[in-house]
Amino acid sequence: MDTEIVRRSVHDDVPRITDELARLVAIPSVGYAGYDPATVRASAELTRDILARAGFADAELIELAGGHPAVFGRIDGPPGSPTVLLYAHHDVQPAADPAAWSSPPFEPRVRDGRMFGRGSADDKSGIAIHAAALRALLADGPPPCTVKVIIEGEEECSVEHLPDLVAGHAEQLRADIAVIADGGNYRTGEPTIGTSVRGMTSVLVTVDVLPIAQHSGTFGGPLPDAVMSLARIIASLHDDDGAVAVAGLHAFPWPGTQIPEEDFREESRVFPEVRLLGSGTIADRTLSQPSINVLALEAPRVDEVANQIVPTARAVVGLRLAPGEDPGAATRALAAHLRAAAPWGVRVTIEPKEPAPGYMVDLAAPALRAAREALGAAFDRRVLEMGSGGSIPLVPMLAATFPGIEVLIWGAGDHRSNWHSVDESVDLADLERMVVAETLFLGRLGREG
Ligand SMILES: [Zn+2]
Repeated sequence: MDTEIVRRSVHDDVPRITDELARLVAIPSVGYAGYDPATVRASAELTRDILARAGFADAELIELAGGHPAVFGRIDGPPGSPTVLLYAHHDVQPAADPAAWSSPPFEPRVRDGRMFGRGSADDKSGIAIHAAALRALLADGPPPCTVKVIIEGEEECSVEHLPDLVAGHAEQLRADIAVIADGGNYRTGEPTIGTSVRGMTSVLVTVDVLPIAQHSGTFGGPLPDAVMSLARIIASLHDDDGAVAVAGLHAFPWPGTQIPEEDFREESRVFPEVRLLGSGTIADRTLSQPSINVLALEAPRVDEVANQIVPTARAVVGLRLAPGEDPGAATRALAAHLRAAAPWGVRVTIEPKEPAPGYMVDLAAPALRAAREALGAAFDRRVLEMGSGGSIPLVPMLAATFPGIEVLIWGAGDHRSNWHSVDESVDLADLERMVVAETLFLGRLGREG
């Protein structure tokens, strides 16, 4: 496949790519409980239509009992050619505070070459890449390899139905190579392959001190309250330098590309006077060490304050895991720590949430070499290899279900994409280059297979 021909054909397709992405972004497909599930179904249906028109003629919804629909399509290559599975997800994070956005989160707008809107990067850009890459591939002739596509409908909100989707549809999804378009570039215009994902787990910890609230004047003094008890438990999770204090968690020095502290500070937008926690390099701390954050806290609201001894309080404690960590063992270590940290004999109940392991990509795999070449050609730049501090539970599950599968993680998002935050956006020139890269990758894969 000639790089220039692909580049031109994709460039001519840009209005359509942009339009498809905008139509996807306009659907508020939030899968969390409390949001209208019909929107997720609508985005599944639009995704199916886009994929069908791109060349996955029989694209269809996969229904998951009690879950949001995924979308599947396939187009067969010559017998004996490799099978590649393209992945993205069509559900998005909520846009909790629309007023904080520069433009409404579900009304896609293009400013300075970027499309703004919830899901523009994470991960509707992935759908746009896969559809456009198939179009460009088919413009060159019949597909040289078997291409399957799976667009998940609840990546952001749940892993409950993931085993049903992957193991439950193993024959349908089976592939030699998976392309996960849910990653991104380190910087705008700097092509990046994802090399690892962290695992994750979380627990709901509930502290109970007494069966009902009591008058803080009559009983205050001898009685602890639930909030101060929970605060002590939470405080025990880190040492004074902010390093994770839970014993027995896996960590290792990050072997790949390092991340300058200035870049990290700039990207995170942390206030300059705030000290960074833990020790080791930024890459160690974000990619190959565990991290703990309190994700939610429940106690009386300030607006509803009363002079009472608070009887119960709860928090969700999230734990990110180094690749290779056993998430079950890590969850047990966290639970044991929380129990042991409970002061004054207060009652502590721990409810673990769905854990997911991390994953290290095999950079020596042939598909990774092909991907590096395709990405380098599309961007005309040296390709970076970076780990991700985030988690993609699908990745370890694919590896477990299809032993030997080569997994590739990339995407069109970048450091300015504001993943999960306000003013999410994607760079449209990088989106175009990602389509070129994926087209070249698929084309060359077939030829080598
Ligand atoms: Zn995502």
